[in-house]
Amino acid sequence: MKRVGDSARMYAGMLLTVTMMCASALVCCAGSNALARGREAGAREASAQAEGPLSGMTIAVDAGHGGYDGGAVGRVSGALEKDLNLDVAKRLSRLLQEQGAQVVMTRTGDYALCDEDPPIRKKLQDMQRRAAIIEQAGAQMVLSIHMNEYAGREESGPQVFYREDCPAGRLLAGALQEALVGELSPSRVREAGGGDYYILTLGVPSALVECGFLSNAGEEALLRTAEYRERVAVAIARGVLAWRALPAEKPKPLPAVDRSGEPRG
Ligand SMILES: [Zn+2]
Repeated sequence: MKRVGDSARMYAGMLLTVTMMCASALVCCAGSNALARGREAGAREASAQAEGPLSGMTIAVDAGHGGYDGGAVGRVSGALEKDLNLDVAKRLSRLLQEQGAQVVMTRTGDYALCDEDPPIRKKLQDMQRRAAIIEQAGAQMVLSIHMNEYAGREESGPQVFYREDCPAGRLLAGALQEALVGELSPSRVREAGGGDYYILTLGVPSALVECGFLSNAGEEALLRTAEYRERVAVAIARGVLAWRALPAEKPKPLPAVDRSGEPRG
């Protein structure tokens, strides 16, 4: 089993390395200019459905946490992860729409998706309702936006997670990680990693982006500026474009986790 998993990882990694070289040229010539043009066009065309490399795709953008659940807390400022997540998610949604994607957001304001006093765990109901929005929209990709924290203050750098052992998620996460590193030039360069997250188990290419560490004073200060959050969103959008430019024969995602036996609220 180990060998099979290892070769699948190697295959995905090699595929990514080889194709990213072609893709990055493409993205530099086409994607970034298009992103720049999109930014110039700005708000006046925000509601129009653009034609672009992501036309025909529905992408779910999930702003982590919300409402009672603030997520990580800025160590210096007390800034809440939920607010920063939503801001990056809105910026990313706009950029993806400018590239032709249909976007569905799991939340658009400061609220959790659970009831005040649900019969099941609030967090579980919140996740179930996010999943229902994504599934009802028929989204072909999930991008979940988060900020990291750690007990020590020295940890920093964006990091993208994919569903453990899912080759499709790994490919997407690799493209996003490379774009984040290229765009943000973090002092600590991380690699995409596998993880166990509810939102990544819906059977489509999915990635959870930890944009940076709110427990690191320098990165917290960056993440609190709109300019840096825009750069994060641009990086994620470029990663999606790079993924899109990869050969059409992408590895299949693992099937959705069967959650029919899960308690419901
Ligand atoms: Zn989070």
